[in-house]
Amino acid sequence: MCYNASNFGRGYRLLSKLRPHLYLESVQSVDPRLLRRRGIRGVVLDLDNTLAGWRALRPTQEVAVWLRRLRSHQIGAVILSNNGKGRVQDFAREVGVPCIPNARKPRARGFLRAMELLGTTPETTAVIGDQVFTDILGGNRAGFYTILVSPLSREEFIGTKAVRRVEGVVLRHFERQGLHLPTHAG
Ligand SMILES: [Mg+2]
Repeated sequence: MCYNASNFGRGYRLLSKLRPHLYLESVQSVDPRLLRRRGIRGVVLDLDNTLAGWRALRPTQEVAVWLRRLRSHQIGAVILSNNGKGRVQDFAREVGVPCIPNARKPRARGFLRAMELLGTTPETTAVIGDQVFTDILGGNRAGFYTILVSPLSREEFIGTKAVRRVEGVVLRHFERQGLHLPTHAG
């Protein structure tokens, strides 16, 4: 296979779909007031390593408070997760947020279903997640406002760990292009 101009074009388009609009330290550093000001009326939330550490059954106090703040700013929420039904539904019930398990992100279907549940349009929907190749790629393709957050814990599926290495390369590229990375405390 040779790399002609059109292959390059496709690669460039994929790369542009991997770039988040915003990159923050954690989900609770996403200010609901700023979302409202951007016209966001609903957020699609990743579960593992975004809302909760790997296998954690409950949100931390900070995340629970943040979810309440979202509600008080009339911003709807849906959990969209690639994890299985049991894990996702238990957590979603605990926080009182509707959920879509087995979402197969970055496929479009789950993102569209989430938007349907939120009653929003692509322009009024944001996605928040810790993975570039699932949350950000799917969100950008759907036309959402995309927010990448640092993963809550280092524990994750083996497959995810391998993807993280590629993700690091992509994020360093965006950093050189001016994407502002969050500062890590410690
Ligand atoms: Mg995740």
